[in-house]
Formats: sequence, C-alpha cells, structure tokens
Amino acid sequence: MIDSLPKTAQPFMDWGWSQIEPYTKELEGRPLSAGNLAGWLADWTQLASLVTETFARLYVATTVDTTDKAAEARYRAFLDEIYPRAIAAEQKLKEKLLASGLQPPAGFELPLQRMQIEAALFREENLPLLTEERKLSNEFDKITGAQTVEWEGQEVTLPQLRPVFQNPDREVRERAWRLSMARQLEDRDAINALWQKFMGVRGQLTANADLDNYRSYRWREMLRLDYGPDDCMTFHEAIEAVAVPAALRIYERRRARLGVAALRPWDLSVDPLGRPPLRPFTTVDELESKTAAMFRRVDPHLGDNFQIMRDEGLLDLENRKGKAPGGYCQTFELARKPFIFMNAVGLHDDVQTLLHEGGHAFHVFEIRAAALYPAVGVGPGVRRGGVDGDGTALRAVPAHQRGRLLLRSGRRTRPHRAPGGCHPVLAVHGGGRCLPALGVHQPRRRR
Ligand SMILES: [Zn+2]
Repeated sequence: MIDSLPKTAQPFMDWGWSQIEPYTKELEGRPLSAGNLAGWLADWTQLASLVTETFARLYVATTVDTTDKAAEARYRAFLDEIYPRAIAAEQKLKEKLLASGLQPPAGFELPLQRMQIEAALFREENLPLLTEERKLSNEFDKITGAQTVEWEGQEVTLPQLRPVFQNPDREVRERAWRLSMARQLEDRDAINALWQKFMGVRGQLTANADLDNYRSYRWREMLRLDYGPDDCMTFHEAIEAVAVPAALRIYERRRARLGVAALRPWDLSVDPLGRPPLRPFTTVDELESKTAAMFRRVDPHLGDNFQIMRDEGLLDLENRKGKAPGGYCQTFELARKPFIFMNAVGLHDDVQTLLHEGGHAFHVFEIRAAALYPAVGVGPGVRRGGVDGDGTALRAVPAHQRGRLLLRSGRRTRPHRAPGGCHPVLAVHGGGRCLPALGVHQPRRRR
C-alpha cells in the first residue's frame, strides 16, 4: 500500500486527511514481528516524511513572504486539518511499537527512548492547543515582518538599518537606533497580547500533561535528556562569574577607544578603532558565490552540496519587506534536502549566519546516505531537537556514523542568540528560529 504514496511532496501537499488516513490505519493495523519491523518503520518513515515535508514547505512559504494570504491560508488549513490528526496517528504508532516489546534495529536506542518521552507527553486535548501555538507563531512573523521605517527618504526594514549601526558618526547611529526601537515599540501592545495568548496556551498544554510548570513540559517536548534546569542554572552562574566580567572588560575597552562617557546601545556595532565597517558582499549573488568558494576550499564535497542548494532554489538569503525575521535551516524530509532562510543585509554577521545554517544543511546532506527511521513527528521545527528538523534526523543516525557528521560542521562556534537555541557544535536547534534583531527566541519553538 505504501508504494502508492507519491514519491515527492508536491502532489501530496493538497491531500486531505481522508486521503492520508488509510495509510496510517494500515500501519496501525499491520501485525508487527521481528521479521517485518524494519519494513514497518521504513513505511512509517515514508508516510511521516511526506507529512513533514508538506508542513515544512507550507511553513517556509509563510516566512519568505508573511503578506502572502494564499500561503497563510494553506498553512492554516494544514494546521487545522492535517497537523493534529497526524500527531494523533503518530501517537498510535508509537504506542504500537512501544507495546510490541520488539527489539528495534541497531542504533535505534536513542530514538526509542525519545519516543517513550513523546508518547508519555501526548494528550489528545493538547492537539488543538499545538495548532493554536503554531498559528500564534505565524502571527508573530507577520507583525515583525511588516516592520519598516523611513530612513533618508527611503522605506527600509529594521534589518536594513543594521549597517547604519556601524556608521562612525555617533549621532547617525543614535538616530537609527531610536528609530528602530520606536518602530518595535509601536507593536508592543500587539506582541504583548500575543505573548499573553502564548502563555495561556502553554499553561493549558502543561496542565493537560499533568505537569506543574511549562518548563517541565518544554523540557520533555525538546527531549532534553542530557541536562536539566539545574544544570542550566549552574551554567548561568558560571556565565555570571566568568563571562560577565570578561564582557564588562571588553565593553570598557570599547568605551575608552570610542572616547565616550558611557557606552550606549548604538555604540555596540561600530568599529572601536575607527576602521571602515566590513562589507563582505553587496548582492546576495555575491554572498552565495563567495560562500560557495569558502565551502569548496574547506571540502569540495561541501562545495558540491552548497551548489546543489543554489541550483535547486534551496536558499532564500536576502532581507526584504514582509519577510519573517531571523534565520533557519529547514529540512524537506522526503527529498532529504535542506532549505536555508535568512535576512542578509551585507554584514559580516550575515556571513557567519550563512556558515552556521550551512552547517545544519550539511548535516541534512550527510544523513541522506544513512539508513534512517526518522519516524519523525509532524511539522517543521519539530520540538524534538531541531526546528530545522535535522536535529530530529540526526538522532536516528547509527552512532558509528555520527562522527563524520560533527566533523563536517567544523565552523567557528559563535554565541547563538536564542535561549534553548542551537548547540553550537552539534548545530541542533532547540526548536525555534533565532531572532538576532530582537534578541528574543521565537516561541515555537522557538524561539
Ligand atoms: Zn543553529
């Protein structure tokens, strides 16, 4: 039966649940044995990859243009009709596998452990809330994607103001910063109202899951197995003891070099030695071609993979009005191809962002060759270790293959702005997009 599924996501994207359900029912009803388990997992994967890629493509369409009403309507229709039913069907398959007591294939230990946590966290009554939470995230993208100001007679987005923060003229920097802040404050009430809705939804998700606080819920949802909140507190204390004094020394050196009485927010991006700001590229084509050359220098294999992304339109790098904020690398699960999204405006930081997301993307290419039973959940930014989805797939790669994956993403680590964000080395996102401009994590999951 699974063979009758489309081989690519495009024809599947318009399927209704009535067309999908027979496949989940068949998987649910299929007797499981040690002999057919691998086949069953592979069939489950085939179906789940179609649902996940559909979600990823619909989601991406809402971020590349937040004003696209048709894209928004398709995404929300998916969130209403397919998303909750697919999660419920997934739950049944997880329960079936867990109850079978069968020994899963080698390398499936960690995914199985995670599946136990997911299955325990599942609540039927949380399904509409998960849908609502995604819709609220989309609302956030629309609000922030619409933010523009008039600067020197031109309408510019807030990211497009960022190069101005490097202007040697302090008065100009201050004016741009105040303009940017004033524009963000205009949406304060709307974002606060959104946040209150998030709080309500998350409080209910937590209560329905019989947990005492959202952090506990989120910890399980993010499948954080290796560390707990207390470890984070210890880490925070270490940051306070070590990193904060270092940052204060760096700021004081910057204040002295700039010759100002007190450092202000608009003094943080300008070169303290008065050198002209780095302008690594002026066009997106230049950003792509120079980055391609860098990857190729590191390893021709990376260069080839990046070229595939250029050739197949899997890069949307430049900032423009109406684009959602931040950057992410998304996985089109069935095609096993990555898609990189960001808001480049000509800064050194943009080069770092592309190298960073490139690291994620190379993970996706590397796992393509691996035997995978992702049994992925549903939806981009699966809050199971990777907005970008690659974290999800990474966990099902047999241990002996993981070494090569980590080696390949040998980019320079840099502080990630999102709490719960990305582990710089493993490049596994904490389910959300980093919002450099706002320094807040989009609740997704990010965020
Ligand atoms: Zn990341």
